[in-house]
This record gives sequence, structure tokens and C-alpha cells, in this order.
Amino acid sequence: MKDMAQRPLVSIVTPFFNEGGGVKHFYQVMAQTMEKLPDFDFEIVCVDDGSRDNTLEQLIAISKTDPRVTVLEFSRNFGKEPAMTAGIDATSGDCVIPIDADLQDPPALIAEMLKKWQEGAEVVLAKRVDRSTDSYAKRTTALMFYRLHNTLSGLQIPENVGDFRLMDRVVVDALKQLPERQRFMKGLFAWVGFKTATVEYVRDARLVGDSKFSGWKLWNFAIEGITSFSLVPLKVWTYVGGIGALFAFCYAVLVIIKTLVFGIDVPGYASLLVVILFFGSLQLICLGVLGEYIGRIYFESKQRPLYLIRKRYSSKA
Ligand code: UDP
Ligand code: MG
Repeated sequence: MKDMAQRPLVSIVTPFFNEGGGVKHFYQVMAQTMEKLPDFDFEIVCVDDGSRDNTLEQLIAISKTDPRVTVLEFSRNFGKEPAMTAGIDATSGDCVIPIDADLQDPPALIAEMLKKWQEGAEVVLAKRVDRSTDSYAKRTTALMFYRLHNTLSGLQIPENVGDFRLMDRVVVDALKQLPERQRFMKGLFAWVGFKTATVEYVRDARLVGDSKFSGWKLWNFAIEGITSFSLVPLKVWTYVGGIGALFAFCYAVLVIIKTLVFGIDVPGYASLLVVILFFGSLQLICLGVLGEYIGRIYFESKQRPLYLIRKRYSSKA
């Protein structure tokens, strides 16, 4: 059992981007769920990630009537990862639970997570055991990503675990120490480690609105994840080049012997072209990979803030 002050404070963190249709429902469900847990106090930190609909107005209205709700307004859309970071930075709870605004991850699970936390876990992961509400394409690409990432990098990201999880204050403080601007949260969460427990659930379909993540966004997200935690894509070229050179050398010996023995042959135009094109493309791919990493170094080196907050709304005394 954890030794904690009376009634620990649980911080819920939720990023909102054009979620106008679901704000009220989110708040109602969340407040109801948390009020059912008599042993805990709670706060909800809502981050409006530059919504272009009335999400912000609705959130502000809620924060005026409920002092447990704090709203951070971003100056523009910065993306889900910065929004979550901002929200987590603003929490003061003994534990923090990030959860999406669309309630695809069931708040009802929070009770179970809190139980594991009280039993001593510092991180409680919520694992999706059934993702049938996600499309087939999303499920398979997600699986491929986890496999690839975990093979390439020393860091193991647990499969089918999203951002919905519980983190103890020590974990949150550890996360805050990671200075990088490009925040692949799943990776960062895994990187900090700590004593971890898992609860399982079935992911629901989105209630209102559409997913904010297109295929292209997810592809870039995947590249972000892999480049953040693995140098394999950078290093592999040494070996590809080495093997290529070895083949080239053997082939050269063969050609020289052939020329000496049989004299000069008909020029091999086609094979020459294929080889040149092949290695030319390899070099371009390799340059592209270098570019991915150098671009990231460039952005990191700028040290720009991760997000800008226009205003903070709270009716807390
Ligand atoms: N979100 C955000 N900024 C963005 C995109 C999404 O804050 O640029 C929020 C969104 O409002 C939601 C959460 O991130 O609360 C997850 O988004 P979504 O449900 O579209 O993702 P999916 O469930 O499809 O992975
Ligand atoms: Mg969703």
C-alpha cells in the first residue's frame, strides 16, 4: 500500500482539437466517473489545441462553473503531443491520467487504474485487447509499427497501449526532465520506465467527429517514433555499402579475368545502367535518412518552446 496524504488528487489531462460536438458529454461522463470515487479528489486540465470550432468557448463555460476544471488555450494548433505535454506540465495531482476527448478510452477504467496505483504501481498502462473499432488498415499498420520500432530500437514500446494511462507524480517529474522538443510521448513514457502494471480494455468507437489523424500524419508519427529512439536507420548504410563494395570487388575481379582470357566483350550497357541506377537510388535513400535526422537535430538546436499558451482559465480560488 502506498503511503499517501488523505484523499490524493488525481489529475486528468485532455487535449481538445475541434471537439465541439463532444465537450459537454466528455465533461459529464468524466465528472460523474470521478465523483463516484469517494477516496480521491480530482482536477481536469483541458488543453485547447487551437480549435477552430466552439470547443474553447464550451470549455471556458465549464471552467467557470466548476473550479476543478482548468483550461489552457494554445495560441494555435500545436498537435496532440505538445498539448498533452502542456497539460501534464500544468497538473498538480499525485497522479496524472491523460485521456482523449472523444472518450474512446473508457473513463470507467480509471477506478481499476487507481486501485493498481494504490497497490504500488507507478505506471498503470491501459492495454487495448480488442481494437475492432479501429479500421483493419489502422490495426495492421499500428502492429507493423510496434514490431518495427521494437526491433530497431533498444526501447520496447508496449503494443496496443495508447496515451491513456496512469502516472505517479515521480513519473511525471521524470518526464518533465526530458528536454526534447520532438515529443514522441509513447516512447518517452516507455523510456522513463518505473514500476508498471497493466489493465485491459476494449477500445470504443469515436462518439462524435472524425479521427484527427490521417494516414500521412500517422506515417510521419511513425518516423518520429523510430528516429527518436533508434540509430539503426543511420547505421545500416555502412553495412549496405560494405556488402555492395564486396560484390563490386568480386565482380571487378571476374570482369578483369574475363577480359584477359576472352578479350574485350560487347559493352554491357544494360547491366551498367541498372547498377548505376540502383546505387544512385540507394545513395538518395541514404541521404533522405540522413536528412530526417539532421532536420531533427536542426529543430532541436533551435530550442523553441514546445507550445505557447494564450491564456489560462480557472475559477479555482
Ligand atoms: N488532438 C489534439 N491536437 C491535434 C489532433 C488531435 O489535441 O492536432 C486531440 C483530439 O482532440 C483528441 C486526441 O487528440 O482528444 C486524439 O485524437 P483522435 O481521437 O483524433 O485520435 P485517434 O483516436 O484517431 O488516434
Ligand atoms: Mg480518438
